[in-house]
Amino acid sequence: MQQGASAACSSQRAAPAGSSTVQQRGRSVEQRSLEAGTAAGDCFSPASAPGSKHVVDQGEEYHSTWAHRAWVWGATALLAATFLRGCAKVHDPVSALAAAAAVVAAYYLADFLTGMYHWSVDNYGSGATPIMGSQIAAFQGHHQRPWTITKREFCNNVHEVFKPATPFAALCLAATSWTAAPADVFLSTATLLVCMCQQFHAWAHMKKSQLPAAVDALQAAGVLLSRRIHGMHHRTPFEGNYCIVSGVWNEALDAGGSDAGFFRRLERFVAARTGVEPRCWYPPDYSWQEEENGVVHEARAK
Ligand SMILES: [Zn+2]
Ligand SMILES: [Zn+2]
Repeated sequence: MQQGASAACSSQRAAPAGSSTVQQRGRSVEQRSLEAGTAAGDCFSPASAPGSKHVVDQGEEYHSTWAHRAWVWGATALLAATFLRGCAKVHDPVSALAAAAAVVAAYYLADFLTGMYHWSVDNYGSGATPIMGSQIAAFQGHHQRPWTITKREFCNNVHEVFKPATPFAALCLAATSWTAAPADVFLSTATLLVCMCQQFHAWAHMKKSQLPAAVDALQAAGVLLSRRIHGMHHRTPFEGNYCIVSGVWNEALDAGGSDAGFFRRLERFVAARTGVEPRCWYPPDYSWQEEENGVVHEARAK
């Protein structure tokens, strides 16, 4: 996700009258593109998506502000306090085992939740969508300029996720007066991992030489999202490998990229119920105006 990205899909496509969305999904991307005409490219106008594959958007802010830091460290403190209160309730081997199992379960759940979240913002809504609009635009901007995530300072990169999680983190801490140890460590761990997904995502875009040794080792071991697995998401039309904590769910959810995959089924369900088709059913339009060396010309990313 790229905060501050100016690109935003102007509207969500509805299924053409009389068409079968299930059949639509069954056709090739190229066929669907031809049939969709300009609809496939309505997400980004030249004016709304400046920049190119090689030029960092000068309008974007990559430094962390005090507000970014306040959201990130404030929520982290709440979650750490919840986790520690949970640990303080562990007094015997059985509760220790239950707490450890809760941490593992939280790790797996967090990866799945980030997949759901990433899939939803990649495919539905627009920059004008209430509450989620900036995040939807940011994810779309990330597909166009994926390298910028590596330029961001830590709190700048993750604060958009920590911010909405803060009230929930406060609620988790308040609930520790009544909850058991496994619940405390489960909620705090899952929430922190989801909040950190943008950092795991950024690491998956960095060169091996840029990564801390521990992160490189965790990626190699499959504990954190690897560059190879996330690289597969960055292939048009961005229709798979949505999970961005560890990526352990991706293979099972994508079912080899077939129409039997979890997200394809979900998309057909949504389309059948609402008539709204996901963006990944169409190839994205990467044409935009680039002003470089005083010359305005069309740029097309690969
Ligand atoms: Zn994406
Ligand atoms: Zn990415």
